[in-house]
Amino acid sequence: MKNIRNDILANVKKVIVKIGSAVLTGKDGLDLTIIEQLVDELAGLTKKGCQVVIVTSGAIASGKHRMGIMGALKSMPQKQAAAAIGQGRLMRLYSTAFAKHGLYVAQILLTLSDLTDRKRFLNIRNTLSTLMEWGVIAIINENDTVAIDEIKFGDNDTLTAMIAPLVDAHLVINLTSTEGLYSGNPSLSDDARFIPLVREVTEEIESAATDDTTAAGLGGMKSKVRAAKKITAYGIPYIIAPGRKKGVIQDIFAGKERGTLFLPADKPMHSRKHWIAFTLRSRGKLFLDEGARKAIVEKGKSLLPSGIVNLEGNFEIGDPVTCADAEGAAFATGLVNYCAADIRKIMGVKTSDIEALLGHKDYDEIIHRDNLAVTKQPRKQK
Ligand code: GLU
Repeated sequence: MKNIRNDILANVKKVIVKIGSAVLTGKDGLDLTIIEQLVDELAGLTKKGCQVVIVTSGAIASGKHRMGIMGALKSMPQKQAAAAIGQGRLMRLYSTAFAKHGLYVAQILLTLSDLTDRKRFLNIRNTLSTLMEWGVIAIINENDTVAIDEIKFGDNDTLTAMIAPLVDAHLVINLTSTEGLYSGNPSLSDDARFIPLVREVTEEIESAATDDTTAAGLGGMKSKVRAAKKITAYGIPYIIAPGRKKGVIQDIFAGKERGTLFLPADKPMHSRKHWIAFTLRSRGKLFLDEGARKAIVEKGKSLLPSGIVNLEGNFEIGDPVTCADAEGAAFATGLVNYCAADIRKIMGVKTSDIEALLGHKDYDEIIHRDNLAVTKQPRKQK
């Protein structure tokens, strides 16, 4: 185990550190001691030549505390207002703490729609790489003040997973309020066992994570494990670790067994396919027969109309659509060459019949393999 960690850490020169609200906030709002403790460690990393990008939570929790609100915020405008109050304060604390080490910070606030637009996605990539070149610490959060449900990441675990390919990170660390992943919820069950290493995010691992969230944060362990799946699919190792433990970052970089390490996928997904699979929001579902499923998953083929048995949704040409087996279990996402109404007319038929049925044929494939990302790999042979 130690060797696996050392092998992974030996080449880490770019790291994303996500810091959860439960780490950053105490009962008196933002916890300055913790922020300084973490910043000292992260500044230490940059001094050693490692580029650091932070994804931070804590804006809403801080704003809420500022306004003296005790219970949960009820409406979206209340959360948005709290974020507007807290975000500035959050940045000020980071800025002051990093300034003690002679380092500057930069604020980046994003909504999902900034990343689903490929051009904006690439622009953000350029901004981030310039900041890293300049040795400035980029501090990213969701732009909660303008984000409504349709354009929301939902939580910063999801945001982090979408940012990882933009940064081309060598490692992602998710700092949270627990030691890492357990086989159940450790605060509810004595049988819950700590899991130090995850080689592959299987269904069993996904179901080990519970949905319970802390009072301060939005994403529970489930969203952290979902993020693990997306991050490791891009070939990046991921560690969920206890953010309030002093020396946590140093321990991780010293190869100590801190937190749960998720190993990167053997065959990393290409950036654009990762974006199709994990950043775009699916607009519908195609149910495929076993032959089509195998052709896509095992042979990397395109999807032809003959393999489609049913569909759901009202999507347009170019929209992202989920591919599922006949039972509805999803295994891929792709950009469609035909709209839902046309696919209804041609599903199950040969490509040579498309023109007769539609009066036109622009493509043989419903989804071309270049636009098709497999999200569930075939089971490894034991
Ligand atoms: N963006 C939110 C904030 O800064 C937190 C989201 C989360 O907890 O994942 O308050």
